[in-house]
Order: sequence, then structure tokens, then C-alpha cells
Amino acid sequence: MSDYPQTQLHIGGIWRDGSKERISIVNPASDAIIGTVANAGRDDLDEALATAATGFTVWSQFSAFERAKLLHSAAQFLRDRVEKIARMMTLEQGKPVAESRSETLAAADTIDWFAEEARRAYGRVVPARSLNVRQIVIKEPVGPVAAFSPWNFPLNQAVRKVAAGLAAGCSVILKGPEETPASCAELVRAFADAGLPAGVLNLVYGVPADISNHLIPHPIIRKISFTGSTAVGKQLAALAGAHMKRVTMELGGHAPAIVFDDADVDLAVRILAGAKFRNAGQVCVAPTRFLIQEKVYAKFLDGFVKAAEAITVGNGLDDDVTMGPLANGRRVEAMEELTADAVACGGKIATGGERIGNQGYFYRPTVLSDVPLGARVLNEEPFGPIAVVSPFSTYEAAIEEANRLPYGLAAYAYTTSAKTSAALGRDVQSGMLSINHHGLALPELPFGGIKDSGYGSEGGTEAMDNFFNSKLITESI
Ligand code: NAD
Repeated sequence: MSDYPQTQLHIGGIWRDGSKERISIVNPASDAIIGTVANAGRDDLDEALATAATGFTVWSQFSAFERAKLLHSAAQFLRDRVEKIARMMTLEQGKPVAESRSETLAAADTIDWFAEEARRAYGRVVPARSLNVRQIVIKEPVGPVAAFSPWNFPLNQAVRKVAAGLAAGCSVILKGPEETPASCAELVRAFADAGLPAGVLNLVYGVPADISNHLIPHPIIRKISFTGSTAVGKQLAALAGAHMKRVTMELGGHAPAIVFDDADVDLAVRILAGAKFRNAGQVCVAPTRFLIQEKVYAKFLDGFVKAAEAITVGNGLDDDVTMGPLANGRRVEAMEELTADAVACGGKIATGGERIGNQGYFYRPTVLSDVPLGARVLNEEPFGPIAVVSPFSTYEAAIEEANRLPYGLAAYAYTTSAKTSAALGRDVQSGMLSINHHGLALPELPFGGIKDSGYGSEGGTEAMDNFFNSKLITESI
């Protein structure tokens, strides 16, 4: 594919190669190698660290007003380039081009939101015990940040870290996703073209463990932000803890979607099927455990199977396609293993349950029913186009199942009872709960999990706080 770029590192304001052998990029719709990405060695990382330190000194002196102006300008570059970036993203990641387009525009919105938040980083004045004392709390940027972002949303996982960090006045070394590097690099290009000083935002790719093992303990880095699996998040959080570094962890989930007898079932089917199969299910907040109250179970299952079968799977560049391939071969293998295990445990395949063809990483939208709780798919994050639909009898039983797992990222519920809605808000253990609609992941809303799904938020004003130190200044006047 001639229109897919060769992706470079961005260190100290310069786009350049790394000292290690370049990494090949595969189009998940065809298995074809479409390009390569530069691979950072330790020397490249040391340069990125040095320039991030200088970049921090420069950028933290910019006023909030100037930072906001520059961020708005970067957002506009993304909007202007949406068609080019969306095509790149679909080529490397697989999602339908309409999803790539909306991801790019959402990234621009996120930058705009954090640009405005930069101007509202107020601090506070605390009334003193004596008239002669003035006590103020100011917010200062925490310092250079090491940010690690994954391949499922090449722009939107990165932009939450980069935009909030830059808005706060931090410099950033972003380790982008090696499998989907080109669209992520466009985020960095937008900031560079907007006039961000050299060294403030650096981009590296390489061997993830080598990069995190070098950056996290390094004294220049003051904060870590990671999005990815719980297993890796725990390792990185432990390393950060050993070096007393601030951490934000946005990890895995296994979201319950609870549909009560009194729900608008057609609405629930339509919205939940859209949320389930978007990005081929490779979404940390995707609904995965569908808990349906007994009276509407059959109707929901029937409707959900029809919705899954109505999805057009294919190359994301084709206009009529509504679900692309999985992003890599590992995910297809995982889907095959989870399905086989569910069936071996006594589960039934209501639809799908198999790979499509042997070129590209296509897997049928899959609905499983009658799956016992011990099956792997009801315990491990599927991160793919598999929905498990199970009946429940009482409110208490639904809550028990919803809260059973160590995860606590997103949860969904459908009910027309105000009493049930209020009780769910109290009882469901998750960082986010969306009732009767899909309302997550807007830049102005907190975004993050509890329990094994991580800590810290990547949205709303809470996201900015992760990049600030609070400093108390008390003076006698
Ligand atoms: P993985 O666990 O190897 O990698 C997940 C992410 O972490 C990737 O972006 C990878 O580059 C990064 N990573 C891995 N080891 C690292 C290290 N030592 N230091 C720094 N970064 C590291 O698995 P995978 O096959 O790429 O993805 C599969 C699982 O990851 C999924 O099942 C899902 O649970 C999780 N995942 C979650 C998200 C999310 O949005 N929370 C995104 C991507 C993947």
C-alpha cells in the first residue's frame, strides 16, 4: 500500500529513525506488510529523556492561556487531516473507516476540552486561623511524563494522556502502539505543526518492556500513565511504586450489561449490540456479560442474535462494512480458545463462533448462551466480538454476578424503574455506570476503573489533577 507512511520516532522536535531494526506493520484485513515503524534503542530513549527534561523547563513557563491556544491549534490540524488519518488508522488497525473518522474527530474534541481546562486550573485560598496569615494552594505540573498507549484506539488512548499532560504544563514521552503507529504519530505531528517547542512531546516505539523498564525508573520521569491489560498494568504499577512515581492505570474490564424485565428491550438490544461490536469488541468498556432478567431473556437473546447477524464484516475501507477484522492474530486465537472452552463447559453458540476465511483476522460476531460461570469467557476479558448472554431472576442475583469479578471498569443497565436505577448507582462496583443509553468516554466525563481495572481518571477535571502537584504556600503578612 503506497499511501501508508513509514513511521518515525519524534525526539527533540525531529522525526527520525531509531537505532534498532525497524518493525513491520501488518494490515489486519489482508495479512500484508504495509510499512514499518522505527524502533528505539536505549540511546534513543536517553535522548528522549534529556529532551523531555529541557522541554519541561520550557513548556512549564508557558502561561495557561498560551498553552490553551496551542492545544486548540493542534486540534484543528487533526480535524483538517481527518480523511488522511482515518484511512491510515483503518489500514493498520482494521476498524471501519467511519469509526476511524469519528475517533479522529473525538481526539480533536478531547484536545479542545483539555485546552480549556488548562485555563481553569485554579488552586484555592484556604481561610487562615489568623488574620495575618494567607494560605494558598497552587497546582504545578508534575514533570516529564512517560505515557504508554495501546493499539485498539491508536489516537484516543494516546490523546487522553498527551492532551491532559500538555494542558497541565508537563512534557511527555509517549510510547505509541507498535502495531498501529502511523495514526498515533499524526497526533504528535498535529502538536508539532501547531508550534509545540522541541522536546515537549516525544514519540517512541520499540520493545514495550525494554522501554517501560528504562523510562519508569529514570529520575527524569515523574509520572506514568498506562492503558492496556491488567497483567501488564500491575507490573508497571509495581515498578513505578518502587521508584515513588505517580501513576494512572486504565486497565481491562469485563462489563456487565443488566437488562431488567421492565426495560425497553428493543432499545437495549440496539444500543448494546452497537457497543458490543464496535471496534470488533476490542474496547475496554465494551459490554461483555449480558445479564437478562428471566421474563425478557428469550426476547433479548433473539433480538441480539439478529443484531449480530446483521453486521457486515469485512475490510474496514469498504463503505458497507460495519465490523472490521480483529487487530492482530493473537485476538483471533483468543476468540477461538474462549469459544472452544465455553462449548466444552456446556455453553451454546447462538450465532457466530468461528473465524471467517484464512486471510486477515476476521471473526464472526458471536453470541454465546447457557455458559456456566466457570468458563474462561466469563472470567477473562474477551476483548473481541463475543457476547455471553445469561438469565437472572432477582435484582440481588444480578448485582452478585455483576460484582463477582475483580474488574470494575464500566457497567450498563436498562430499566424503566427510577427506584432500580437509583439502587444500581449505589450497588454496582464500577468506575462508570451507564443507564438506558451509552454515555461513556466523553472528554468532560471521568473515565477510569476501580479494583483490578486500575486507578486514576482519564477524563473530566479529574484527569487534569493526575498531572498536577498541589503546593501549599502559607505566609505571614
Ligand atoms: P499485552 O498485555 O501484551 O499488551 C497490552 C498493551 O500493553 C499493548 O499496548 C502493549 O504494547 C503494552 N505492553 C505490554 N507489555 C508492556 C510492558 N512491559 N511495558 C509497557 N507496555 C507494555 O496484550 P495484547 O495482546 O497487546 O492485548 C491483549 C490484552 O490487552 C487484551 O486482552 C486486553 O485485556 C488488553 N488491552 C486493553 C486495552 C485497554 O483499552 N484497556 C487496550 C489494549 C489491550
